[in-house]
Amino acid sequence: MMISKLLQHDQHFLNNINVVKASIKAAELNKNDTVLEIGPGKGILTTELAKKCKEVVAIEIDESLKAELAKMPKNVEILYGNALKLINEVHFNKIVANIPYSITEPLFGKLLKLEFEAAVLLIGQNFYELLNGKEKWGIISKLFFEVDKVMDVPKDNFEPRPRTDSVLVKITPRKKLLSEKEKIMKELILQDDKKLKNALMFAQMRIRNITKNQAREEMEKIKLAQEWWDKRVMHLSGVQFEMVVKEIVG
Ligand code: SAM
Repeated sequence: MMISKLLQHDQHFLNNINVVKASIKAAELNKNDTVLEIGPGKGILTTELAKKCKEVVAIEIDESLKAELAKMPKNVEILYGNALKLINEVHFNKIVANIPYSITEPLFGKLLKLEFEAAVLLIGQNFYELLNGKEKWGIISKLFFEVDKVMDVPKDNFEPRPRTDSVLVKITPRKKLLSEKEKIMKELILQDDKKLKNALMFAQMRIRNITKNQAREEMEKIKLAQEWWDKRVMHLSGVQFEMVVKEIVG
């Protein structure tokens, strides 16, 4: 396979069946589960998933892997295309995947808006640290998910070797009840393409069940410079986001 393609699609194939087994065990699969796999590659994980669940829907961007993936069991459906586009069109209740590093952030952005029971994912060490840090992804992950480390997966478990080590994590949507402040923060994150003033207006109307005018009146009481109101939520750093939220909800 050409080196450029391996790099372009983050093709670091797992070479250790024990990591596959650990992923399947962590996902607690049963015969009612429909599992989404992102990037089946040559199918090392796909084949084992298929033995434990009702069906696997796998999305692979690289059509040159078709010959390898043609050997998959009958309960595996392979869709060719970009997982970031197709994920909204498929039905599943769990995700198990060794995901391509370069789509990690946008993929997690999608997970915030999707319903699922659990996602067992191999992610880069750097992103794992972000999920547990104090910056934006740390704040987001605490609001939306429980993140449990299953195991460290050093780079020699892949062929070719990636630049960084990986971590196998189990992500479950957060079940703990949210405070009003957390609900507003969550709503702001889900509206992160909007300017802060519009996102907050919408968040207050939804969470506090108030009218647009009432929301506007509430916002007039908040002492925040105009430049902050006009910033898009996605352009705030984690520290800025927390500072703004403190001004808004205390
Ligand atoms: N699951 C295989 C394994 O563990 O050996 C392959 C994992 S490899 C890290 C990532 C896989 O995702 C590759 O097969 C690559 O072609 C595929 N891929 C990369 N970007 C993708 C995208 N946007 N949508 C779907 N698949 C993608």
